[in-house]
Amino acid sequence: MEKRKIGIMGGAFDPIHLGHLVAANEVLNTYQLNEIIFVPTGNPPHKNGLIADSLDRYVMVSMAVLSNDKFSVSDIEISSREKSYTLNTLRKFREIYKGAELYFITGADAIIDLANWHQPSEILKLCKLIAVSRPGIGLKEVQDKIKDIQLKYGGTIEIVQIPMLQISSTEIRKRFKKGISAKYLLPESVEQYIIKNKIYMKGDTLTLG
Ligand code: NAP
Repeated sequence: MEKRKIGIMGGAFDPIHLGHLVAANEVLNTYQLNEIIFVPTGNPPHKNGLIADSLDRYVMVSMAVLSNDKFSVSDIEISSREKSYTLNTLRKFREIYKGAELYFITGADAIIDLANWHQPSEILKLCKLIAVSRPGIGLKEVQDKIKDIQLKYGGTIEIVQIPMLQISSTEIRKRFKKGISAKYLLPESVEQYIIKNKIYMKGDTLTLG
């Protein structure tokens, strides 16, 4: 019997936008995955200063994935008080999906920094890493860095280019802060949730992504 292929889409999703959804769909098709589980980061070890709290980010992702029966969301990181190490998350998924092939999908900007993650070689034993990137921008640099990472840690890391990733969470947060419409950059339900709860309209807009 063929192994199940499970995508795990990691990120802050502050907020989730159409670029993330298109990226997930492209990876699903490219690798013929059975499903993709979106995992909003809870308490990331590498940074502070997320704008929306974890419950709001979880709710926004839940609304965004509703229309695709191959997408779902997990609270595995946001419901834990521990630091959200990807290795721990992967170990938990390995327990749940015994025998499945795991694909950890996230931004190329994050993956080129893999050497600073917790136990990169162990991560690469548990999953294939899929680095999604904006086309053209620094592609050669990303390829070179990923080659070095693979030489050092082994495993499989692949780059998938997604034109729609021109959309960024940082840009969307800035728009809400300035009162500029972000329509069509994110699902309408998510836009309405942000407006109703005034999520990005107060305080400083930090540059995270
Ligand atoms: P982030 O702040 O959300 O994003 C970093 C960059 O990647 C941004 O350009 C972002 O664009 C993009 N991005 C993030 N998630 C994406 C996704 N799923 N698909 C496409 N683009 C995406 O992310 P981060 O905090 O660096 O971490 C990303 C993932 O790596 C998380 O799951 C995190 O837990 C994991 N990580 C783990 C460790 C560790 O275990 N020690 C260390 C670092 C990162 P947008 O802003 O537009 O989303």
